[in-house]
Amino acid sequence: MVDTTLRDGEQTAGVVFSNQEKIRIARMLDEIGIHQAEVGIPVMGGNEKAVLKKIAAQGLSISLMAWNRANIEDINHSLDCGVDAVAISISTSDIHIQYKLQSSREEVLEKMVKATEYAKKHGVYISVNAEDASRTDYDFLVKFARAAKEAGADRLRYCDTVGVLEPFMTFEIISGLIEDTGVDVEMHTHNDFGMATANSLAGIKAGARYVGCTINGLGERAGNAALEEVAMALKFLFNKDQDIDTKLFREISEYVARASGRILPPGKPIVGDNMFRHESGIHAAGVIQYPGTYEVFSPEDVGLERQIVIGKHSGSKALILKFKEFGISLSSDEATEMLPMVRRTTVEMKRPLFDKELIYIYEDYMHKKYEKGIDYSTVSTEQ
Ligand code: MN
Repeated sequence: MVDTTLRDGEQTAGVVFSNQEKIRIARMLDEIGIHQAEVGIPVMGGNEKAVLKKIAAQGLSISLMAWNRANIEDINHSLDCGVDAVAISISTSDIHIQYKLQSSREEVLEKMVKATEYAKKHGVYISVNAEDASRTDYDFLVKFARAAKEAGADRLRYCDTVGVLEPFMTFEIISGLIEDTGVDVEMHTHNDFGMATANSLAGIKAGARYVGCTINGLGERAGNAALEEVAMALKFLFNKDQDIDTKLFREISEYVARASGRILPPGKPIVGDNMFRHESGIHAAGVIQYPGTYEVFSPEDVGLERQIVIGKHSGSKALILKFKEFGISLSSDEATEMLPMVRRTTVEMKRPLFDKELIYIYEDYMHKKYEKGIDYSTVSTEQ
């Protein structure tokens, strides 16, 4: 797995990491055991170069890749930073060649080959990036991939730059590309239609051996494939364990969320607060009996905790379990009698209840039950 939080992630409009944050994120990725991190764009100079040099000097075992346009100057800046790998990027679609590069297919090939041969001479690992590959004429893409391989590229980054792929098409294109060129493919997908993770997985299924992701899916526009999603899907849905420390996922997600000024949505797959929160009576009762009823992996696997939330949909079993946390053992009759009060309060508050509020309800209930002698068996439980 290749992480590009520090390059594509930071490229996101409105996101900038401090030097310390960049170093910290690189160290965390190393600790997790990610194979390679794309750490930045050296040709930006000054600060960016200085921090890349610092990251390279950390003595990490993660491979460090720097991003370049297809020219010698960019590559010289990268070599200067002491990274062991370079991405050499150039657009391959006609729409980019015409409007962005104002160039020709021939010139694109020539520039890429020159830059690749130059980097190869300097002994770095090379990923040649076909930018906007998903909107590129297929025959030209084949030509480009073959030329890249011949010039010494170690792999081809297939960029779905504007996120227009869907998994079925991805599988077909990547299968064909590998068959036609024998090139090692890295998937790089964007989430404009919400399919970045699915497209990455489709590419892997088709034979791509590398996948570029970012923490929290941070990246341009709707973002990239999220590393934590791809990693857990590979492990649990594809049975391909990446041998990485997934227990650190929540920690790095929170860190990147803070550093990028983006809150982590509660419903974020894999690492969101709600992943292991159960409120509905049926679900909570199931999970209390056997977590596998409503959980595919354990909260500990990603550094989260299971939480039974007491709210409108809670049942008596969850209530009993919750009160155990407070050192109070409710009988199932008591739990059943308290439920209508719990539900009424959550609807009034329009949210689940805090521990304190549950205790108040309990005190209220006990008070009425014993001091006023109300017979609760006659109280209606309708909502
Ligand atoms: Mn990108």
